[in-house]
Amino acid sequence: MSESENIGNKPTNFIRTMIDNDISSGKHQSIITRFPPEPNGFLHIGHAKSICLNFGIAEDYQGRCNLRFDDTNPAKEESAYAEAIAKDVQWLGFQWDGEIRHSADYFDRLYGYAEELIEKGLAYVCELSMQQMREYRGTLTEKGKNSPFRERPVDENLALLRKMKAGKFDDGSLALRAKIDMSSPNINMRDPVIYRIKKAHHIRTGDQWCIYPTYDFTHGISDAIEGITHSLCTLEFEDHRPLYDWFLDNISIECHPQQIEFSRLNLEHTITSKRKLNQLVTEEVVDGWDDPRMPTISGMRRRGYSATAIRDFIARTGVTKKVHTVEMSLLENSVREDLGENAPRAMAVLNPLKITLTNYAEDKTEELLAPRHPQKEAMGKRKITFSKTLYIDRADFRESANKKYKRLVLGKAVRLRNAYVITCDEIKLDEQGEICELLCRYDENTLGKNPADYKAKGVIHWVSEQHSAVAKVRLYDRLFNVSNPAAETNILDALNPDCLVTIEQARVELSLKDAKPEEVFQFEREGYFCADRYVHSEANLVFNRTVTLRDSWVKIEAKG
Ligand code: ATP
Ligand code: MG
Repeated sequence: MSESENIGNKPTNFIRTMIDNDISSGKHQSIITRFPPEPNGFLHIGHAKSICLNFGIAEDYQGRCNLRFDDTNPAKEESAYAEAIAKDVQWLGFQWDGEIRHSADYFDRLYGYAEELIEKGLAYVCELSMQQMREYRGTLTEKGKNSPFRERPVDENLALLRKMKAGKFDDGSLALRAKIDMSSPNINMRDPVIYRIKKAHHIRTGDQWCIYPTYDFTHGISDAIEGITHSLCTLEFEDHRPLYDWFLDNISIECHPQQIEFSRLNLEHTITSKRKLNQLVTEEVVDGWDDPRMPTISGMRRRGYSATAIRDFIARTGVTKKVHTVEMSLLENSVREDLGENAPRAMAVLNPLKITLTNYAEDKTEELLAPRHPQKEAMGKRKITFSKTLYIDRADFRESANKKYKRLVLGKAVRLRNAYVITCDEIKLDEQGEICELLCRYDENTLGKNPADYKAKGVIHWVSEQHSAVAKVRLYDRLFNVSNPAAETNILDALNPDCLVTIEQARVELSLKDAKPEEVFQFEREGYFCADRYVHSEANLVFNRTVTLRDSWVKIEAKG
């Protein structure tokens, strides 16, 4: 591929245009971005957008992208989250530059900059309580009031900060604040807190610190320490940009990254907030952060979404400053497109109904060949065995039906996929009066040919009793049945009660015994199914439904 074609294939968006300008004006020779998650939960689909944007830019501009844990809030952070996050980034197909970085790696330098601000008369130790600080801060329409501690002399501030650092005060009793402007129309500029006292154990620094820098103070300085050129973040940080710039303008550091905001990815029928996802986990509504119903990267992975499909979806949503919510069907369509192309086909009967072929010899069997993919011969063929006792899906049989029903009907014929045409002669009922078996005849002249003198309506899937395996199949559906669950007072009220239906005794063709965990198949006529990443094995087949073949929600929503 020539270089110009390569450039032509790159996505364009307002951020890339700004970067192009910075390169052509000579402001930057190389580009460094970063992805800065807080390790307080698993990554979700929204983070995938930020990952694709930051790592994608680094890739396309032959630059670098750092993975930096923004770990300034020890109370909520866990190493297990950090590990899961790093794995998810790699699974999505990206690799950070060098070692993983942490804001905590810069605690010493950050503290030094805090002392520098004090020395310059730009920071002070404040004794107002949290409550008082809130009152002094003012509102959107009212100016704030200066703290009575604002004019404390430099030496006293320094001494107090050092005592704070040495653990001489209680949590929350004192705070270091930047001295900016209590009458600023931007509330973020009204003497924001830089350091707070919190005697908490930190996952990286242990008990070394009992004061922790705030996010706003830490973030921009960490960016600058790493030489980040473009610090990309979501729109809610737009009003924090003046503060980002103020810190960097007032400390002795060369680098001054440019903060650029873009709109968050919001997805209908789900939530993209770690706090709310955490609620689902702790209240055991789902089976962990990587439950296949979760919009987390590891949940989607366990459900059978590929990294390619997720990246494709993210590319389709684009990067803008407009606040918008994307339909779930857009994500599901990216998944369907990818799997339609790549997933091998197989037959699985989810609700088995027994069929006995009355004119087929008791001990006879036939090996038939079926393509693994109808459009991709290179994927080869699989063996399926035909025999006297078969299973079809209960939904594929009716005693009587109108012409539109193209499946098996009593007295009528249907084709068994990749095999023969059969005709149903008789129904057997069990003691409860339920259909428990069908007696059918097969037509031996119909393998790969139409019957000579009658018509078979439709094609249905099947498995042979002896040549199939029992599998557990989990039918996942959307976790919420309202389009914006985040708007509910309690998200639990909006849960879809049918978001998981488990079938214990599905029957699958024997080739599926070779399925490896995480492998995805199209169960013909049923949907895409993924061998469970954790519990699936040859002796215990467990498949998770990735997505249905078609979008069934369109109709439901239209009906109301
Ligand atoms: P949450 O509200 O889920 O905790 P967060 O923004 O606090 O999200 P971080 O771990 O701080 O989570 O996010 C890491 C990066 O991912 C940030 O740069 C953030 O802007 C970005 N990000 C988070 N959610 C989204 C989203 N929905 N769309 C795009 N980017 C996002
Ligand atoms: Mg955050």
